[in-house]
Amino acid sequence: MSALAAPMVSALVSAVAMTVIVAVRYLAASGIFAWLTARRAPRAMRIPSGQIRREIGWSLVASVIYGLPAGIIAWGWQAHGWTRIYHDPHDWPLWWMPVSVLAYLLLHDAWFYWTHRWMHRPRVFRAIHAIHHASRPPTAWAAMSFHPVEAAIVGLFIPALVFIVPIQAGMLALVLVIMTVMGVTNHMGWEIFPRALVQGRAGRWLITASHHDLHHARYACNYGLYFRHWDRWCGTDAGLTRDF
Ligand SMILES: [Zn+2]
Ligand SMILES: [Zn+2]
Repeated sequence: MSALAAPMVSALVSAVAMTVIVAVRYLAASGIFAWLTARRAPRAMRIPSGQIRREIGWSLVASVIYGLPAGIIAWGWQAHGWTRIYHDPHDWPLWWMPVSVLAYLLLHDAWFYWTHRWMHRPRVFRAIHAIHHASRPPTAWAAMSFHPVEAAIVGLFIPALVFIVPIQAGMLALVLVIMTVMGVTNHMGWEIFPRALVQGRAGRWLITASHHDLHHARYACNYGLYFRHWDRWCGTDAGLTRDF
């Protein structure tokens, strides 16, 4: 094998491996919460036939779009020190660890809010975002049910951010866990978080299923991902669903 081919092969292996990891993570997380839904809220399981198959199909396509670039970046990080991901927590002040998690969530949320609003412009909606809204009502399997263009818009933001904002590897893993759990639970048609939190003071600023479900029901409101401040500031917050 030539000197050039070997790194290309290992980058490719990393890309394929990451795609498999993303797909398995999706199937496991959505599978667990779908199982929980069947036990806890069987009403939320009444959905049009074929919908779950479509949700899984689009989500697996999205896994490839998330996984390939993430795998190449992971390879570049290990082989060439790409990105600003660091291992040793002491490389940056310790307070940066929680602050970086919050920074990632806030930046991702802002990116999501504005691109999401753009995707609700009629022509863009029909061309791209309609696939996500074809889930009526959504299920735990809809977490990554996006048109490939939307998957790229949503899924490539964090891989780009790791080149700009330093983050410790464990904290990045935490961001990905939060992203996965919230993506799945926000779509499963019932509220998993305690009423005291959702309807309390924290719930005024945090997004859970009670908030995102209303986006799927009414479309032109509740565009945020993790936090409600953009919706509140821009007058698009319609509150929480009364259905659960
Ligand atoms: Zn959604
Ligand atoms: Zn939408």
